[in-house]
Amino acid sequence: MGCQIVRVAIPDFSAAEALSVISGKSPIPVVADIHFDHRLALLCVKNGAAGIRINPGNIGGEKAVAKIAKACAEAGIPIRVGSNSGSLPAKFAKRIKSCPEGKKRQVLAEALVESAIEQCLMLERHGFKDIKVSLKASDVPSTVLAYREFSKRYDYPLHLGITEAGGKFRGAVKSSVGIGSLLLDGIGDTVRVSLTGNPVEEVHTAIMILEAAGLRQGCPEIVSCPTCGRTEVKLERLLSKVEKEIEKIKIAGGIFNPAKIAIMGCSVNGPGEAKDADIGISGAKNGRMILFRKGNIVGSYNESEAFAKLVSVMKSLLK
Ligand code: SF4
Repeated sequence: MGCQIVRVAIPDFSAAEALSVISGKSPIPVVADIHFDHRLALLCVKNGAAGIRINPGNIGGEKAVAKIAKACAEAGIPIRVGSNSGSLPAKFAKRIKSCPEGKKRQVLAEALVESAIEQCLMLERHGFKDIKVSLKASDVPSTVLAYREFSKRYDYPLHLGITEAGGKFRGAVKSSVGIGSLLLDGIGDTVRVSLTGNPVEEVHTAIMILEAAGLRQGCPEIVSCPTCGRTEVKLERLLSKVEKEIEKIKIAGGIFNPAKIAIMGCSVNGPGEAKDADIGISGAKNGRMILFRKGNIVGSYNESEAFAKLVSVMKSLLK
């Protein structure tokens, strides 16, 4: 689906054993997420994890951290540490609780930063610096403040995300605002969108955020008009049909050259408003549809003909 790195939770030894099969077959790096038991982390390193995500504060003390740091250094893999608003150490949680309401965001952001720094220092004490850091809260402004502050002080790569962001729609909006703001500031190295639902939607959303931030070329880039009183076609249905066709082409292994595809509501303004599109389709009078390329009308067709022609042009845009 375009995902470049995947993380799996390792709650027990059978999961750590399964990791050797998963990482052996995965076409992308698999990171292991471990809490509380350093032996799970050591087994995951042995079983081919491409990275380890731990909280050095809850993995079993200094000796356990030292063992993990040594194993990861020998394997040449990074460790992700990070703070999360839901699991901050008690001293920070107390500080946030007792501060005035108007200061809560600032104090939470500072706590996220301090807690992450403490985790980095624990690894650094054992000579380990191949670290990436996350500073996640479900509150977007606090998260953005925390990442901005941390990035001013440290060079460690940053993994961006808004935690417990919510369902598909709300979560996508919160993640876009939070992750998008940071990306536009030039902050962030990896991204995870957290949604309650199918993880495939998380990948889709993350890719769309990267595209919107200008960091990943939309392949293809789809533009569609917002519809108005001139609309001559059920545009939402048409858009979803085109998107499904693109998905089908991609799943079958088709790779689009950078291309822009426009789905527009009317032939009066559609071809002109989307004149930079490589191929476009717009509604027209009497149930007809217009196909256009770079603003020039190619022809007028009935709906099924127009769709078939659009798909055939889309296929010609593949690498
Ligand atoms: Fe309205 Fe046509 Fe513009 Fe769509 S392309 S917003 S239908 S004028």
